[in-house]
Amino acid sequence: CGIVGYIGQQDTKDILLTGLEKLEYRGYDSAGIATLNDKGVNVSKVKGRIATLREAVDESIKSTQGIGHTRWATHGVPSELNAHPHQSTSGRFTIVHNGVIENYVDVRDEYLENVELKSDTDTEIIVQLIEVLHNDMNDVAAAFRKAVELLTGSYAIALLDAENEDTIYVAKNKSPLLVGLGDDFNMVASDSMAALHVTDQFLELMDKETVIVRRDGVEIQKLDGTKVSREPFTAEIDS
Ligand code: GLU
Repeated sequence: CGIVGYIGQQDTKDILLTGLEKLEYRGYDSAGIATLNDKGVNVSKVKGRIATLREAVDESIKSTQGIGHTRWATHGVPSELNAHPHQSTSGRFTIVHNGVIENYVDVRDEYLENVELKSDTDTEIIVQLIEVLHNDMNDVAAAFRKAVELLTGSYAIALLDAENEDTIYVAKNKSPLLVGLGDDFNMVASDSMAALHVTDQFLELMDKETVIVRRDGVEIQKLDGTKVSREPFTAEIDS
């Protein structure tokens, strides 16, 4: 239902939780965040309110990179297990997703026969697919693009790689997703509301584009890996 992501210099938790609170008006049944630091990825998720998530988040873990999600269940009941973020079997990849993967049964049967799925969501298929493709290709950006090529349906996704503290991978198809731009940070948001507390500069994304989001810049790529350049727009702040 809602996505927010941050990569920058400041502690991530509050930026993500505040972003998710700004998306509460859209409705949701569960929520979660994942943060990455030199000790790895830390996931907190709950069924229920962002206020409950705030209490569940470990205040002692500091991180300057993370992703957050409010879920409106389409595949799998509302529960802590089915709440996002979802992780691949090795724990290396962590994803949040809005929308519905239409061909998740085909993808599961063709690529994931040896993978033990942990949740009932279509979303877990995406992150497990990325891991399986990465095992073959050994290139995260290429595996991410390949996954986007294979998946049908509506999706906005943001991915953390536990072995890369400098990047969030994002993509969209038929679901809204924006990249928010800052001086020494960048954001990802399904709705500008989720990022207006830190920036009013946004990049629009086209369907099936992928974006490599770093602290010091963003790179939009088409599925064949070629770069796309695009000017940001200024979002109106409602008062
Ligand atoms: N289809 C996904 C799920 O049920 C995402 C739903 C959403 O957009 O929140 O987990």
